[in-house]
Amino acid sequence: VTKLDQIDRQLDALNETRADLLRKRISELSTLGKRIADEIAVMQDELRATTGKRRSRLTIPDCGTETGYQRHNHLGEKCDECKEAHRIHANAQAARRRIAKAVEDVA
Ligand SMILES: [Zn+2]
Repeated sequence: VTKLDQIDRQLDALNETRADLLRKRISELSTLGKRIADEIAVMQDELRATTGKRRSRLTIPDCGTETGYQRHNHLGEKCDECKEAHRIHANAQAARRRIAKAVEDVA
């Protein structure tokens, strides 16, 4: 085995180690990215609910809200604005469940 072959093998081993580190870090960051997206979804939903106008339960809910969606749904109506609000709300709910599960898994 020549000295050059030895160096070549050492270089391969180093590259392998570096590739393993990169794969591990990419996987960690991708998990973190999903967690961040979940938290953002929850916060967006909360912000929507917080900044929405306060209304009496007796008045008709605004369009573009989850309550609006529920009302349309109850009446068998279709509304794109409320459908979008419902999509965001449902996303946030799924995200909340994932966050709760992640916290459970750590504990
Ligand atoms: Zn509506």
